[in-house]
Amino acid sequence: MGEHEAEVLTARDVPLGGPRAMTVRRTLPQRARTLIGAWCFADHYGPDRVADSGGMDVAPHPHTGLQTVSWLFSGEIEHRDSLGSHALVRPGEINLMTGGHGISHSEVSTPDTTVLHGVQLWVALPDAHRHAPRAFQHHAPRPVRVDGADIRVFLGTLAGDTSPVATFTPLLGAELLIDPGATVTLDVDPAFEHGVLVDEGGILLAGTALGRAELGYLPEGRTTLTLTNDSADRARLILLGGPPFEEEIVMWWNFIARTDAEIRQAREDWATGDRFGEVTGYPGARLPAPELPTVPLKARHNPRHPRRDSR
Ligand code: MN
Repeated sequence: MGEHEAEVLTARDVPLGGPRAMTVRRTLPQRARTLIGAWCFADHYGPDRVADSGGMDVAPHPHTGLQTVSWLFSGEIEHRDSLGSHALVRPGEINLMTGGHGISHSEVSTPDTTVLHGVQLWVALPDAHRHAPRAFQHHAPRPVRVDGADIRVFLGTLAGDTSPVATFTPLLGAELLIDPGATVTLDVDPAFEHGVLVDEGGILLAGTALGRAELGYLPEGRTTLTLTNDSADRARLILLGGPPFEEEIVMWWNFIARTDAEIRQAREDWATGDRFGEVTGYPGARLPAPELPTVPLKARHNPRHPRRDSR
């Protein structure tokens, strides 16, 4: 990887489940990269005609050690969780759910949704806060116009706007709409590494070409990011950032922990306990956890940060 080039992470298709198995494009985690800042999971989906894909219907399932971020480009999702939240996720509005010690939720596209299109992202919680109480935050950012682009900042600070949504580590999350042929240079925090997930259009990130559903990565140390829409149509992308997350994590199914034993306990608690609470109003049974592998789950970390915790 050259000094001025971005690393390109390509997506793999993953069936999400549901009657006709809606497919998402997953760029995080993957072998080459586990996290960007505390961002540890990135699914991009659609635009899917719900009549063809069956839409989204994810029965109640648990989370621990993470926050979920839902961000839509079109369609609408009904969210219910064991905190008692009942919310409609709409385009251009962040819904951030803190799993903390344990939460459960369901996500179902609404009957009025004809086209479903968006991203689902996860944030790993740092050790000091990973057992935080359940929480749910919502914010509809006003678009900020810079020369060549409209920007919605849903987490952190960019282009003079700051999201009021609280996080446990510094984070950046924003949607950018870039005019055809336009180049945008943005001031960024040099302590942050960044990821650019392309939804539509052809993007040059620091000179590196990114196509649809690709995630471009740039390490920390930059004070500006330059993005060019190298296409004749408007481009749309999601910009993610944060300081490198240096803790090792163990990820399995919908859980993030630090050890294999903690994951096995979380699975047991979903099967038998009340750690994750109850989702009311979902018409159907909750999701059972898959079988665990018989070998211990391994911790993951980023290749740039091998065993920094062993200093
Ligand atoms: Mn979930």
